[in-house]
Amino acid sequence: MRVTVVGAGPAGLLFSLLAKRRRPAWRIELIEQNPANATYGFGVVFSEGALGFLERDEPELLRVLTAAMQAWPIQRIVHRDERVDIDGSGFSAIGRLALLEVLQGLCRDAGVKLEYGRAFASLAEAAGADLVVGADGANSIVRGSMAQFEPAIELLTNRFAWYGTRQVFECLTLTFRENADGAFVAHHYRHSPSMSTFVVECDALTWKKAGLDRVSDAEARAYCERVFAPDLGGHALVSNKSVWRRFSLLSNRRWSSGNRVLIGDALRTVHFSIVSGTRLALEDAIALDRAFGEAGEDVPRALAAFEGERRPIVEKLLAAANASSYWYERFPEKMREEPWRLAYDYMTRSGRMTDDRLRLMAPDFMARVDAARAAGRAGRPGAAC
Ligand SMILES: Cc1cc2nc3c(=O)[nH]c(=O)nc-3n(C[C@H](O)[C@H](O)[C@H](O)COP(=O)(O)OP(=O)(O)OC[C@H]3O[C@@H](n4cnc5c(N)ncnc54)[C@H](O)[C@@H]3O)c2cc1C
Repeated sequence: MRVTVVGAGPAGLLFSLLAKRRRPAWRIELIEQNPANATYGFGVVFSEGALGFLERDEPELLRVLTAAMQAWPIQRIVHRDERVDIDGSGFSAIGRLALLEVLQGLCRDAGVKLEYGRAFASLAEAAGADLVVGADGANSIVRGSMAQFEPAIELLTNRFAWYGTRQVFECLTLTFRENADGAFVAHHYRHSPSMSTFVVECDALTWKKAGLDRVSDAEARAYCERVFAPDLGGHALVSNKSVWRRFSLLSNRRWSSGNRVLIGDALRTVHFSIVSGTRLALEDAIALDRAFGEAGEDVPRALAAFEGERRPIVEKLLAAANASSYWYERFPEKMREEPWRLAYDYMTRSGRMTDDRLRLMAPDFMARVDAARAAGRAGRPGAAC
């Protein structure tokens, strides 16, 4: 069987690896527009245990990744210079390039034909393939403007830029800052012993008022360094194609068409605030490989099985992810709240978290919330914080 995989992000690399390992006779070519040692962004973070699913299919990969990851047991919200720690909310992170390089090495060893520096321009390039896997991200060429997949795209109004910094943060932190132009939030965490990811987000009004729509990239970076000076400890922000963007919430009514199937961000995007895009991309790759395990080389049967298994799981997560996106769209108004209340609102933003679940998961944090509520009822607002 001849397989063309477009896009060597986490989804394309892992699918190619699994498929080639299990079916060495398949000819798998993986086409990537960028050079092997280039990527956008900095690190990616995973909630605790989120990569546990690799245990069954790729235990060795899980071991290698775990060894290369930074991990911490809490999440932190910083608002009005006050820290609110959320216990029981552990995460781990890795540089995106480090993750890709591990997968690239395994693909090479397995015999996948990797073609870096080649932009896949049209489906005609995969004319002889029995299967075409679109793992080419949110702006997928494989999906293209083809009506077959029935894509739906919603562009969020907030603006964000994905920076890095040499300031090494203790844990995944959400820092809220205000100035005369408006409100900003940064998601930041270390993804290596010497480097952190720093994603800056603001609403459209603030972005314009701050002039970020008009200034150069270097000026925009310098502006953000001033906003987050209390947090950066004198370190600069580092750019890696860190342009200001609006996040697209993408989904497709159809997941495959003929011999073409979409996985990862090409299939659907989830807002980075729920830190699940990469995990979903890797899970898609595993599910697609498994579908071929059951269907053999019967492509339509495998693609139907893939969608049958994955769709209910993905749709449940999408609902939570979209609720999280809409929370961010309103974050400036949330900043009127006291720090503990903002943190509580954040933790319950998906609508799936109850107080009882939070008490089990984050007893110290909820003790603080309960104490603050009691103080408020007793007429001493904020006394317990
Ligand atoms: C600011 C930000 C922060 C994020 N943080 C996190 C996080 O902390 N945790 C997390 O899990 N997820 C995070 N994500 C989401 C995550 O990056 C994606 O969900 C994940 O990368 C999807 O993997 P993928 O393989 O499907 O697509 P991608 O990683 O986008 O890879 C697609 C690949 O296809 C290539 N390509 C595209 N078009 C072509 C073409 N025509 N020809 C050849 N190659 C092509 C691209 O160059 C790219 O290498 C974040 C996203 C953003 C924007």
